[in-house]
Amino acid sequence: MTPSIDRNQELFDRARELIPGGVNSPVRAFRAVGGTPRFVQRAQGAYFWDANGQRYIDYIGSWGPMILGHGHPAVVEAVQQAVQDGFSFGAPTEREVQLAEAIVHLMPSLEMVRLVSSGTEAAMSAIRLARGATGRSRIVKFEGCYHGHADSLLVKAGSGLATFGHPTSAGVPAEVAQHTTVLPYNDIDQLEQAFGLYGSEIACLVIEPIAGNMNFVRASVPFMRRCRELCDQHGALLVFDEVMTGFRVALGGAQSIYGRQIPGFRPDLTVLGKVIGGGMPLAAFGGPRALMEQLAPLGPVYQAGTLSGNPIATACGLATLEQIAQPGFFDALAARTRSLVDGLSIVARSEGVEFSVDCEGGMFGFFLLSSLPQDYQTVMTSDSSRFNRLFHGLLERGVYIAPALYEAGFVSAAHTEDDIATTVEAAREVFATLRT
Ligand code: PLP
Repeated sequence: MTPSIDRNQELFDRARELIPGGVNSPVRAFRAVGGTPRFVQRAQGAYFWDANGQRYIDYIGSWGPMILGHGHPAVVEAVQQAVQDGFSFGAPTEREVQLAEAIVHLMPSLEMVRLVSSGTEAAMSAIRLARGATGRSRIVKFEGCYHGHADSLLVKAGSGLATFGHPTSAGVPAEVAQHTTVLPYNDIDQLEQAFGLYGSEIACLVIEPIAGNMNFVRASVPFMRRCRELCDQHGALLVFDEVMTGFRVALGGAQSIYGRQIPGFRPDLTVLGKVIGGGMPLAAFGGPRALMEQLAPLGPVYQAGTLSGNPIATACGLATLEQIAQPGFFDALAARTRSLVDGLSIVARSEGVEFSVDCEGGMFGFFLLSSLPQDYQTVMTSDSSRFNRLFHGLLERGVYIAPALYEAGFVSAAHTEDDIATTVEAAREVFATLRT
């Protein structure tokens, strides 16, 4: 029940006076679904409490990082110890080495890694490295994939393959956007045509292997195989953006899943974030030694950061990776996620609501559509007003999912079977109101 004074509303009103839209990242503003964003007071395990003291089962987990749930004791202890030793030095530390060792151990396509502070920075830097290493300018990305807000990545498709990409944000120069070609996800024909037209100009193809920014859409195995083959044929680099999927869909990331299905498969560069920081500002990019040694101070590609490899963030990331590398961790997490999506499917069917769902490890997505979409255009055929009713119905019942139909969801190791059962029952009640 909302108290007579709504503290969320009060804080949102104050925030809007001082912070554009009242938020420091747009999706938090609830613009897609309407209503007042919940201001979080504290979080523990699978829950957070808003400014009114209302508890929610959290399926966002800070948009992915909180794979252990909030406030895991081993992570809290590691962070508390690190704080005692100092906040930031601008000089190297042992923990940076340990974190780099942990990452390259868990993801064999990386021989070297550079730590940065956000996924945006990591993707932007990986692209600069790809351009520097190949001496080419053009990059290829896919509609519906998000790689952070660097200029060259805020681009949508032109009217045809031979036309330039257009900026999706004011402030991005057309001259920058024209170096980015945007293709439909999972479309092998267009991919082949693009390489036919521009093959010798392409520095890299950047892809979310399981796209979590158009809800949850997997790259098909034949599509991924073709991406790899075309990059090889044309001397372009394949950049896997695993900011969301890395250490989330499997211990070895999405690349370990494609690696099991495509013999010898590996990306050239990998971009990481979210889980590797365990909720602290930390991200990374990495790949083979010969490529990574093109970076300053060894090579000509410049990249730097005052807070890169921050000692508290690395402590948090290391403690998180230690937990998720425990035997059986991902099996248990995947089973919990599976029980959520199966439960949701059952109640959607019993209430006569069109529904499709997919999941991998601790990441899931569902659509109010009869079958799983393969690309962004199809994702966007979802009925947003029905999604919004679902979102608010769940929110009123204490279940917090992403406030937009094009975002994935996340289950943590702290979610219990009881939490899942409560969520499924809440969904049943809301689905009953959605029946057409
Ligand atoms: N890449 C992917 C796949 C993401 O999902 C995100 C953020 O959600 C980013 C890059 C950008 O990361 P950050 O928000 O840390 O800059």
